[in-house]
Amino acid sequence: MTARARKTLVWEPGEIPAPGALLDWRDGRHFDHRHDRPCALCARPTPMRSHHGEPAHKTCAESWITAHPTEARLGRFASDTQPKRARDTDDHA
Ligand SMILES: [Zn+2]
Repeated sequence: MTARARKTLVWEPGEIPAPGALLDWRDGRHFDHRHDRPCALCARPTPMRSHHGEPAHKTCAESWITAHPTEARLGRFASDTQPKRARDTDDHA
């Protein structure tokens, strides 16, 4: 059984986007509807959270990755993991 360890990592992040690319934060866990907290990057209130529970606007996190490409590789902000879907159920595009 898995312990509910709420240390730093809230849940498993996916890939770290390349500088200039967009984060994929579609998972509802990025949105804390209980309360806003000051964004770690711009200090304005935000309901958005990183995978580590750090409050940050998605756009601020993307700008931070672009401005700090080396630090970004350490995984402060990452996209959600991509669910592996069967190709044949979703090829209408
Ligand atoms: Zn911000």
